Parts: sequence; C-alpha cells; structure tokens
Amino acid sequence: MGRMQHVLVVGAGFAGATYARTLADRGLQVTVVDKRDHLGGNAYDHVDGNGTRVHRYGPHLFHTNNEEVVDWVTQWGEWVGYDHRVRALLPSGKTAPLPINRRTLETVFDVTLPDAAAAEQFLARVAEPTERIANAADYLRSRIGSQLTNLFFRPYTKKMWDLDLEDLDPSVVKRLPLRFDDEDRYFPGDRFQIMPRYGYTSIFERIFDHPDIRVQLDQPFVRGMEGDYDFAFLSMPIDEYYDNRFGPLPYRSIRFDHRVKENQPDMSWAVTNYTDDGPWTRETCWGMIPFHGNGRASGTHTREQPCDYTENNLERYYPVRTSDGRFQKIYDEYLRLSSADPGVNFIGRCGTYQYLDMHQVINQSLQGAKKWLQHHL
Ligand code: UDP
Repeated sequence: MGRMQHVLVVGAGFAGATYARTLADRGLQVTVVDKRDHLGGNAYDHVDGNGTRVHRYGPHLFHTNNEEVVDWVTQWGEWVGYDHRVRALLPSGKTAPLPINRRTLETVFDVTLPDAAAAEQFLARVAEPTERIANAADYLRSRIGSQLTNLFFRPYTKKMWDLDLEDLDPSVVKRLPLRFDDEDRYFPGDRFQIMPRYGYTSIFERIFDHPDIRVQLDQPFVRGMEGDYDFAFLSMPIDEYYDNRFGPLPYRSIRFDHRVKENQPDMSWAVTNYTDDGPWTRETCWGMIPFHGNGRASGTHTREQPCDYTENNLERYYPVRTSDGRFQKIYDEYLRLSSADPGVNFIGRCGTYQYLDMHQVINQSLQGAKKWLQHHL
C-alpha cells in the first residue's frame, strides 16, 4: 500500500463530521478546519446561564425514516424520543396546530367538524384548485384556499424569505403537509424523531474523537490550503470558493433573541409560529424539549428574526429557492465548474446550495463518502 492519503474537510457541521469520520475509519488522515470557535456548525448547542440547553443557531429537531442514518448517528451518544409540536398564534390571540389539521380549521373558521371526513369536505369547499402550479401561492391556494394561505403562509413567508408567495418555489411550503385528522406532531411521517440526550455538541465531540482526525477551530479556509492535501471536501459556500465569479448566491440568515420568561402559562408544544407581519417568525420554548430545560414554559425562550446573510456577519442559513429558479441556474454554473475540479467536492447545505435537513445531510455525506472511497482507495 502507498502513502496514507491526507484529506482536508472544511466545516465541522454534520456534512464535514460525517465525511471526516467515515474516511478516518477507512484509514485516511483527516484535517478539519472551521472558522468558528466550536464544533457542530449550525447544530451547535450549549447550556446557557439559566441551566437551559439552547441551540445557538435555532432549533434543530432530528427526524428521519432512514434507518442507516439513525444507526450512524446514534453510535455517538444517547438519543431520546421526542415528538415535536408547533402552534401558530392567531390574530385573535388563540393558538392553533400547525401544520393545518381538523382542530386548526375549527379554530380559524369557528365551525364544528366532527371527524376527518368533515374536515376534508370543509377544505375542499375553501380550496381554489388551479391547473398550473407555478409558485408557492398557486400550490397553497389550490390546496387550502386564499384565507388560510394569507393567514398562515403569506406574512410568515415574507418575513422568512423577503419574498411574496408568488416568487417562492412550491417545494419550500410543501415541507408542511395538510391533515384532516387530529395529528398535531410536526413530523409524524418520520418513524424516528429523536434528540441527543446530552446535546448535539457532545455528539460532535464523539464523532471527531479519532486518532486520525485533527480539528482546527478558529481556522478559516484560505484559498490554496487544499493544495497541501490529496483531496478536499468543502462545506463552505461554493460561490465564495470561486470568488463569486458567476455572482453571489443569496442566503437567508436569522438573528436570535434569547430571553428568560417568567410566569408563563403551561404549554404542550415547543415552537410558536407568528402569523403577524412583525419582525419575528417563531419562538422556541426550550423547556418543552426533553433534556433542554425543566419541562416548564417558564425559562429561556428564543425568538427568530430572519434577515439577509449580509446583514448578519455573513452567517448563511437557508439557500433561497425562487419560483423562476434564477439562483439554481447560478448554482448550476458553479457546480459545472467544480465538477471539472478533480481535487474538491462540495458538500452540505452551503456547498450544494440545497435546503437540506440534518438527516439528509448525513445521508448524502454517508453515500458520498462511500462513493469517493470506491474510486480513490
Ligand atoms: N411556512 C409559513 N408559515 C408557517 C410555517 C412555515 O409560511 O407557520 C412556510 C415558510 O415559507 C417556511 C416554509 O413554509 O420557510 C417551511 O417551513 P419549515 O417549518 O419547514 O421551516 P424550517 O423549520 O426549515 O425553518
């Protein structure tokens, strides 16, 4: 066998961690750099001064149907079951389940719908079916009609994306299903809904704990660094790597407002979404997530205010997907360029400019690392 191959991984989030560990376990030497001073990328969490576990970059709720991903991620620590629930705060001051279900319809329209069949019939009456679905507004109106669209989706989407529903790709709002029964869990379609018992950060510490993985925090990627390695996996923004030569790819970012709230009435859900047109999209009550707080509504809460990433220290969280696909086209140009680059692979949300959940990032990274090993070992 020849010399031990040495690879560079840029970014210590789920994409980088999955590649680093998979490759190190197969005998490669791995160096990981991250410009931040902590592991975990946007899944990083820590215990605040109030004794509450807080996710610094907003709530990360793990859910998947993919058993291979669960097997992989549960090797690195204890995980506990958790059913995530969200309610929307209505103009009346009442809250209603989200995604929309039978109870949501009863609350919003002040009607009695005895069962799922009645709810389905009701929705069929308010829906405004259209043949051509060109954007998120078309999709929503054809499924739930204008009133529900304008209540639950229009102001929230404007705040979140700074886009009208007419300009947003339907895939973004399709993340939320439509229900006729009383199911009020956010991810009931996923067999596995779990949270790390001791936080995501402890999971990352275990993933990176390998004699052939060296992690350098506070170490930004510098162009040319990859030249010292046999190969580089980059979870950094692909546009930044190529000096924006086809133009910058937009990202939404979020500013977080953490505060301790006292004397809060009991809650049975963790996240409240705001339907109004103020600055905030949602508020997480950490106490309602197992092993984050004390199970009570009083304690640390975090509100989210979306903004452009250029207004938040270049913190990129969400790739923007418009109905005309204009940013996808720019990304495709970068992808073509990188495909011709034999020494680098772009990975994760920022590297592939995709709206990926954690389980999807892990799955893509497991499959990507396996494929790479087949070709390079
Ligand atoms: N959305 C909305 N109102 C809501 C919840 C979601 O308009 O109360 C839309 C919005 O455009 C959002 C998208 O649906 O960006 C996807 O929501 P999801 O909860 O999946 O977003 P994430 O948890 O990834 O931020």
